[in-house]
Amino acid sequence: MTKVHMSLEEAHALAMSCLLANGCDKANARAAADRMIQAEGDLCHSHGLFRLPWYASGVKSGRANGKAKPRVEQLAPAVIRVDGDGGFAPLGQAMAHQPLVDCARENGIAALAFVNMFHLAALWPEVEKLAMEGLCAFAFTPSYPYVAPAGGTKPIFGTNPMGFAWPRKDAPPLVFDQASASMARGEIMIAARDGHSLPETAGIGPDGQATTDPKVVLEGAQLGFGGYKGASLAMMVELLAGAMIGEFLSTESAQDDAGRGGPPKGGELIMALDPAKFGDPDGFLAHGEKLFEAILAQEGTRLPGARRFENRQKTAATGIDIPQSLHQSILDLM
Ligand code: NDP
Repeated sequence: MTKVHMSLEEAHALAMSCLLANGCDKANARAAADRMIQAEGDLCHSHGLFRLPWYASGVKSGRANGKAKPRVEQLAPAVIRVDGDGGFAPLGQAMAHQPLVDCARENGIAALAFVNMFHLAALWPEVEKLAMEGLCAFAFTPSYPYVAPAGGTKPIFGTNPMGFAWPRKDAPPLVFDQASASMARGEIMIAARDGHSLPETAGIGPDGQATTDPKVVLEGAQLGFGGYKGASLAMMVELLAGAMIGEFLSTESAQDDAGRGGPPKGGELIMALDPAKFGDPDGFLAHGEKLFEAILAQEGTRLPGARRFENRQKTAATGIDIPQSLHQSILDLM
């Protein structure tokens, strides 16, 4: 595959130009571009520039608000709500970050109900940022109905990721961020684009039969990871980041899109806990490290998040490569 090489700064400028050309204002374009280039820098391509056509077309079609002005309000002592004003998540997340940190430090625990926005990104940026403040964090968001319930054949749940981060003293936070589906949707789309096959556990065709063909899975249904266990986690995410905060379930988000093919609109629940308020303020960090040491003492292990942090160091020096076809499709949008 022919690639185009660029620095992270060039990639950021490309994303900004494309978003501005398609109707974003500077604040919204910058926040979305920051998020995509963060993903590129960590070599998480499925949430990098690969998403840019979706962001741009979402704004151009008028479905997403490229000039959103998110509003942050306090609903209860430990509950913050952000109305994203129909824009993309990164701007509202950036605005709500400090209020959430302050609220968690004051109460020991705090939750952010983020509504009326388009997420379409990875969750590690928000939980990692909270763990950089010494907090432990969780995040959940539904998407579109892509995943069949256990035993079923029709998609109901989103690929519904969950992110978790734990602070460390002299190292980047421990972060895992995973879909409740066996594979992230973006990875299946990339496999379809590049002609790769999928593991058998990834999904089923419209006939309910297992298949390794990504195009057939995209027409049928994805499966939860670990069978019914992943499906239950996907259901939990629908309840926490949909029903509980007054936002769309994945099926409702698809109805709202009405086949336009835009990004999923919906909500996100972020929780932040201050470990220093849970009874062992001087010991929790070292105690966590004991666990990580025991894991890493075994050959073949690594900590979740370690791959991204290593990639981040490399790409800061070397830049990134993106497929020439993606580069051209971004240029065509301007
Ligand atoms: P992966 O299966 O690639 O990785 C899941 C997690 O496992 C990562 O934190 C990863 O860390 C860690 N990990 C992978 N291999 C190992 C290993 N050998 N040892 C220890 N840890 C490991 O992610 P998914 O495909 O499930 O999800 C991809 C992304 O898609 C996520 O960021 C998710 O948020 C996003 N997503 C977003 C949606 C949305 O609507 N907004 C919907 C669905 C998914 P590392 O990063 O270091 O490899």
